[in-house]
Amino acid sequence: MTDIHSLRDDFPILDKSLNGQPLCYLDSAATAQKPNKVIDVIKTFYQAENSNVHRGLHTLSKNATNRYEAARETIAKFLNVSAKEIVWTSGATESLNFLAHGLSQALNENSKIAISPFEHHANIVPWQEACKRTGAQLLVLPMLENGVLDEAGAISLLQTHKPDILSIGHVSNALGNIHPIESLIKACKTLGTKTVIDGAQSFMHLRPDLVALDCDFYVFSAHKALGPTGVGGLYGRYNLLNTLPVYKTGGEMIQEVTFAHSTYRDAPGKFEPGTPNISGVIGLAAAVDYLNNISPSALQRYERALYQSLLQQLNQIKGVTVYGDTQNNVGIVSFNYKNEHHYDLATLLNTYGVAVRSGHHCAQPLMNMLNVNGTVRASLAFYNNEADVEHFINALKATIELLD
Ligand code: PMP
Repeated sequence: MTDIHSLRDDFPILDKSLNGQPLCYLDSAATAQKPNKVIDVIKTFYQAENSNVHRGLHTLSKNATNRYEAARETIAKFLNVSAKEIVWTSGATESLNFLAHGLSQALNENSKIAISPFEHHANIVPWQEACKRTGAQLLVLPMLENGVLDEAGAISLLQTHKPDILSIGHVSNALGNIHPIESLIKACKTLGTKTVIDGAQSFMHLRPDLVALDCDFYVFSAHKALGPTGVGGLYGRYNLLNTLPVYKTGGEMIQEVTFAHSTYRDAPGKFEPGTPNISGVIGLAAAVDYLNNISPSALQRYERALYQSLLQQLNQIKGVTVYGDTQNNVGIVSFNYKNEHHYDLATLLNTYGVAVRSGHHCAQPLMNMLNVNGTVRASLAFYNNEADVEHFINALKATIELLD
């Protein structure tokens, strides 16, 4: 297994400068940087291998098809599921829309869908639309005052309301909290509640074993896990997945088409009409191959230590408020400084070469519950190091001096 400290060199962008300063990239929760291996695989595909899949008899097309289907095996193995349970989409957003569309077909005005207060808009709005269509009720699990999910309260709410569906993020993109989804899924099992896990923020950091988790669906985006943008997918327990209705329609997903009617392939084929993002899928497989060379426990230890160091130094700055669960966290620090606007802080940090996100992080309901209109979010990955933490803390102190 690879030594984590040496991996930074694989990421060419991390050598670049930003506004005349060395780049300090602390925005991996928005999108992760890409190692050379992923960049090279995509470049080589277009230079030497480009062809459509599932169509041609010629060698290029056959090779592209093999690579595309091998990628499905790679991702399935990474998540410890079967390849036929993986559907490619354009990312977590499309996966959640697909599931909200499919799973809501069976709902009516007596139905309930539960989500958590921490959800990204991509895991709120599709369910709201499903509720509008069906008359189902949207329930929100409770939060403790310190920005942590109320686990006992959540289980009690599930037991009382027995929702048809629970859709919850494994990790909050706004705060980094790792949610206790194991106990929630277990509770759902006894209630007959279907479980959808938004894995956009956990795929790379936590590398979940979906058999152990025992969830029904899990969605992900390649770009949050070293892969390219515009591609991702979902896992679905096969007997459930195969019963979902088609979402998008067109070529490739069919068995037979007449002017009177069409019949469809089995999952996953029936959910993948049209020419897919072939280079994206192959790029994601390269990203997962890269992650497979890193020990998951070593990665988590490394990110945890860096997070603790960042948090400890941030907490020493008077006037800083950090939000969320600092005990169970993938390495996201969400904070404000006194009454300064998060936008001003992030704008000034940018002049020091620091890339952080500011705003509501597509989690407006959560920001309302925390009584803020946004935060500054610094998010880490294994390619960050202590020098990044020092750079960030110095830049923040300089920013604060300017503002005070
Ligand atoms: N869920 C979570 C938790 C996310 O962090 C994101 C991306 N910020 C999404 C869903 C949506 O992912 P994408 O934009 O790649 O579709």
